[in-house]
Amino acid sequence: MMDTRILTIDEQSLKLSEKIIKSGGCVAFPTETVYGLGANAFDDGAVGRIFEIKGRPNDNPLIVHVHEDFDLSALVSFIPWYAKQLAKAFLPGPLTMVYKSKNRVSPAVSCGLDTLAVRIPSHRGAQAFLRFVNLPIAAPSANISKHVSPVTAQHVYDDLKGKIELILDGGKCTGGIESTVLDCTSDVPCVLRSGLVTREMIAATVGECNQYVMKEGERVLSPGMKYKHYSPKCKTALFGYDNREQAYKYYLDCINRGERAYFMCESAVASMYNIENLLDLGGTELEIASNLYDKLREGEIKADIIIAVAPQKQDGVMYGVMNRMRKAFG
Ligand code: AMP
Ligand code: MG
Repeated sequence: MMDTRILTIDEQSLKLSEKIIKSGGCVAFPTETVYGLGANAFDDGAVGRIFEIKGRPNDNPLIVHVHEDFDLSALVSFIPWYAKQLAKAFLPGPLTMVYKSKNRVSPAVSCGLDTLAVRIPSHRGAQAFLRFVNLPIAAPSANISKHVSPVTAQHVYDDLKGKIELILDGGKCTGGIESTVLDCTSDVPCVLRSGLVTREMIAATVGECNQYVMKEGERVLSPGMKYKHYSPKCKTALFGYDNREQAYKYYLDCINRGERAYFMCESAVASMYNIENLLDLGGTELEIASNLYDKLREGEIKADIIIAVAPQKQDGVMYGVMNRMRKAFG
């Protein structure tokens, strides 16, 4: 067990993070989506350590994070026209693009695939860290595998204390759900994981964009999508928006049985009922995305059971939110 320090991002903590990264260690750092657990992407041992610390299955590849002025052509072999256009429109930001790899980083990053996922985060603290170390940083979310992704330094600490030396604290992540993962290896881009940069936004920018839907028996394009994910450590129940009455009755039944039940829903639904134990996701779709993991983590500490009502809206950003909710609620 090592001592785990949480430090705000300044010259001193950046120097420490550089020292850890260059000696093969892992550093947790904030991004605009969730906190990442970063290691030098060139270093086999360091990348292996990420999988070990998280208990991550070794067929679930990592995203490489780089600063704004990093020369991508050093890592990937072909960047299609639409990817350049999307980079202009959305980067730095919560969009990860998958390219044909040049196999310069450790093969453990992509778990042996011939592609590489790259992201340029917009968070100022993330940029400062990436510039300071000036290396491609392989980083998944900084949680124990399958648990809810962390959106505060405290969440990271709760999962990884004793296992890493340093958590760079950049406050609460504003985005709240993981980046959109976009396959850029074909003629038409394809969303492998939905996020804040939506399929609709991508299609509006470059004309066309597909959405990958996992089918039984098919080779999985984005291996991460097949795993149970984002699960709180308590019982859960998810109801569709149209079944909100039923959800409320179920909540009351649980309360009457003496269970610590918490009700998770958007503000408009919360205002329809008298809910004492409320996990309010907020009003707008960006608020809902931003609050989801924070409220799941709050809920698992306080509740025996979290009863959630799906948001009314189901497209755009809510498509990605629903994908996470379904996985979190099993
Ligand atoms: P995480 O950083 O924990 O959110 O996980 C990274 C996500 O990116 C997972 O869903 C991976 O499956 C996906 N990913 C990473 N690299 C690739 C790649 N080369 N091809 C397809 N998906 C990838
Ligand atoms: Mg993750």
